[in-house]
Amino acid sequence: MSTFEINREKCLRCGGCVGVCPVNALELTENGVKIDEDECIECGNCESICPVGAITVGDKK
Ligand code: SF4
Ligand code: SF4
Repeated sequence: MSTFEINREKCLRCGGCVGVCPVNALELTENGVKIDEDECIECGNCESICPVGAITVGDKK
C-alpha cells in the first residue's frame, strides 16, 4: 500500500513533481495532481522537488 499523500490546498499545480516521477505515476489534471498508487515506487523524487512541501511519501519497508 502506498503512503503517498498530497496536500491539495498547498499544491500550486506547477507540474514539477510530474516531471521527476520515474514511473509516470503522477498526472496534472484540472483537479490537481493525481497519483496512480499502483505505479508509485515511493522513490521520493516528487517530495524533494515540490517547492511548497505539498507531497509526503512514506517508506514501504
Ligand atoms: S514517490 Fe517517486 S514514484 Fe512515487 S509518485 Fe513520487 S516521484 Fe513517482
Ligand atoms: S511539485 Fe508540488 S506544487 Fe508542484 S504540482 Fe507537484 S505537488 Fe503541486
